[in-house]
Amino acid sequence: MKDSKKIFVLTGAGISAESGIPTFRGKDGLWKNYSATDLATPEAFNRNPELVWEWYRWRQDLITRAKPNPAHFALVELENLSESFLLLTQNVDNLHQCAGSKNVLELHGNIFRTRCLKCGSIDKIDNAVFKPLPHCPCGGLLRPDVVWFGEAIPYDVWTKALKFLNSADVAIICGTSGVVWPAAAIPEIAKNCGVKTIEINLELTPISPIVDISILGPAGKILPEIVKLLRH
Ligand SMILES: [Zn+2]
Repeated sequence: MKDSKKIFVLTGAGISAESGIPTFRGKDGLWKNYSATDLATPEAFNRNPELVWEWYRWRQDLITRAKPNPAHFALVELENLSESFLLLTQNVDNLHQCAGSKNVLELHGNIFRTRCLKCGSIDKIDNAVFKPLPHCPCGGLLRPDVVWFGEAIPYDVWTKALKFLNSADVAIICGTSGVVWPAAAIPEIAKNCGVKTIEINLELTPISPIVDISILGPAGKILPEIVKLLRH
C-alpha cells in the first residue's frame, strides 16, 4: 500500500453496521414483520407506496441519528494520503460524505434523495412535502432515489468505477460479503487487471479465495491501523 498511488475502495453494509445501522439481511432487517425484500422492490411500491414510504421515513430517521465511525474517518484520511482515490459504496446512508470523503460513487443510490416517477428529476428528501405521499411539481409521484431489488444499477456509476479500477494499484473491499452483484465481481475484475486486492471483513466471505489478502476484524479498528502504518 505504501507504493500505491491509485487506491480503489468498495464498501458495503458492514461498515454502516459499525455505526449502528441495521443491515438488510437477517432479523435486524425486519420492520413491522416485513423484510427488506418485501418492501424494497418496484412491485411493493406500486402496490402500496404509503407503506414503502413509511418504512423509508423510519430508516431515514434511524440513519439521521447515526454518526460516521472510525472506519469512515480512516477512509477520509486514506483519500487525503493518496494521489488518486475512488470510493465506491453500496451503502445509501450518506455516512461517507458526512465523514468528509470527496470522491464517492454510490452504486445503490442515496436514501436522502427522491426521484420523480414521471419526469425523472432528482431532489433532496428535505424538499419533499408528505401529504401523505410526496409529489413532484410536475405532478408525478416521488420515490426514494435508491436501487431496489430486481432493478439495474446506475450504468454511469458502474462504468466510471470500472474505468478507475482498471488502472488502480490496490483495491480494498470492506464490509461486504461479496454476494451482491455486480459488486461481487469487483475482486475478480481487479485481479484480471493486475490490481492487488485486500478484503477487510468480520469473517471470511465468498470472495476470500479470490483476494490477495483477507484481514478479519471490524473495519473501524483495521482501517485506522492501516492509515497509521502508512503515515510512518
Ligand atoms: Zn416530476
